[in-house]
Amino acid sequence: MRQVAGKSKADRYQVYVDGKWVDGASQKTFPVYDPSTEEVIAEVPDCDAKDVDRAVTAASAAFETGGWPQTTAQERGRILFRLAEKVRQNAAMLAELESRNCGKPIVEAEFDIADVATCFEYYGGLATKVMGHVNPVPDNALSLSLREPMGVAGQIIPWNYPLLMAAWKLAPALAAGCTCVLKPAEQTPLTALQLANWFEEVGLSHGVVNVITGFGESAGAPLVRHPKVNKIAFTGSAAVGKEIQKAAAETLKRVSLELGGKSPNIFFADADFEAAIDGALFGVFINQGEVCSAGSRILVEKKIYKRFLDGMTEKAKKIKLGPPLERETKMGPLVSKEQYERVRSYQELGKKEAKLAAGGGRAAKFKNGYYVEPTIFYDVENSARIAREEIFGPVAAVIPFENEADAIRIANDTPYGLAAAVWSRDIFKALRAVKAIRAGIVWVNHMQPTYVEAPWGGYKQSGFGRELGPWGIEEYLETKQVHINLNEQPIGWY
Ligand code: ADP
Ligand code: MG
Repeated sequence: MRQVAGKSKADRYQVYVDGKWVDGASQKTFPVYDPSTEEVIAEVPDCDAKDVDRAVTAASAAFETGGWPQTTAQERGRILFRLAEKVRQNAAMLAELESRNCGKPIVEAEFDIADVATCFEYYGGLATKVMGHVNPVPDNALSLSLREPMGVAGQIIPWNYPLLMAAWKLAPALAAGCTCVLKPAEQTPLTALQLANWFEEVGLSHGVVNVITGFGESAGAPLVRHPKVNKIAFTGSAAVGKEIQKAAAETLKRVSLELGGKSPNIFFADADFEAAIDGALFGVFINQGEVCSAGSRILVEKKIYKRFLDGMTEKAKKIKLGPPLERETKMGPLVSKEQYERVRSYQELGKKEAKLAAGGGRAAKFKNGYYVEPTIFYDVENSARIAREEIFGPVAAVIPFENEADAIRIANDTPYGLAAAVWSRDIFKALRAVKAIRAGIVWVNHMQPTYVEAPWGGYKQSGFGRELGPWGIEEYLETKQVHINLNEQPIGWY
């Protein structure tokens, strides 16, 4: 059965296992919502350990005997190009479905879908550029290292960039020759299911990619525990990342984790003022602040602190909140009731911990939907919970600093290390900060641009492993040493 695109009130989806559309083993389903209306827009299978086992068994067979790892790199590349083409041809439908399901503004969803296609194309090209080595061993021998796929990859993704996160996981894994079991977030499974509509047509044979829907405990955890899964790739919260690493240790799975952050966005007094204000808002409010690399700690040099805060506040109050499918909308609702309540509780906490400059509550003009106001707290102590804990919503903590050393100290005083940005017109100062900051991504005079050609991932408790670029495919490759003796004499030891 081909899956339909969320047009009617509650479309009933199936999951894609071993090349077939099937119900969950238990026949149970759960609702998927439109967060701008709080209405149910689909029902999807509530998969459990039985479904996980079916999917992993299919992926394992596709890997062991189905011939996927033996396809040529050229063939895998062509398949990824064809998948990219399907995404481009259906971009409008995918963007609309994404926007409706996760609440992000349609214009942002369109950028995401374009990035999805680019990601499949990039790894389609990279498939044929994976190369081994000749090792210079000091003997009459030929020593080689071969790169081989890791096997079955279990891929667990979040709800903030649903299809893009699926592409970041599937594209490098398939290019490497792995087979996949993908579990989208329970809040946003629809676009990944749409993608599965095209797998067979583009040439992915049965079992190479399986997509199952379900909750973390009942579908994610069994995937992490399954003995036939060789690798887990996860993007999500630090708390779940820690659980996954522990559970994966039991079978010594390879693990890559892209977790949260509390990224500093640092503004020196000599920064271009207008660009800086814009960069501060964009850094923390894009995608409703539901971004792992959100610049949620805004560090501002004391010399410009007051003027900067006023400028930011004035502009933040004008951000256009609205239904995600309206093109003028710059901020939609949060993804779910749970996330709404979580962000609301941080807004209340912030009022006790710091001073409020903008927002601080529900966006009152909407009768339904999980809308919250873009919120700015200031004079925030870096030790406050709103400066230490990832909120994953449009809540900014503005923190003053005295000088360069002070800025670096505050920036690095966090358990996380995903991203950071520095704004200054002094190239020496900016580059000193780039070197001093302990984070996997540092932007200068910008925040958030992300390219498939450049590495993505964190230091410290923001996880480990790198996605995108050539680093991304490394996460799905093993290295095999091959020694070929060229000396025809016996070894001569005994
Ligand atoms: P959030 O806090 O926004 O719910 P999570 O880190 O909990 O973010 O979720 C990210 C992804 O991890 C989702 O696909 C979710 O279903 C999955 N997940 C949650 N808990 C577990 C778990 N214990 N084991 C495996 N996957 C999980
Ligand atoms: Mg969760």
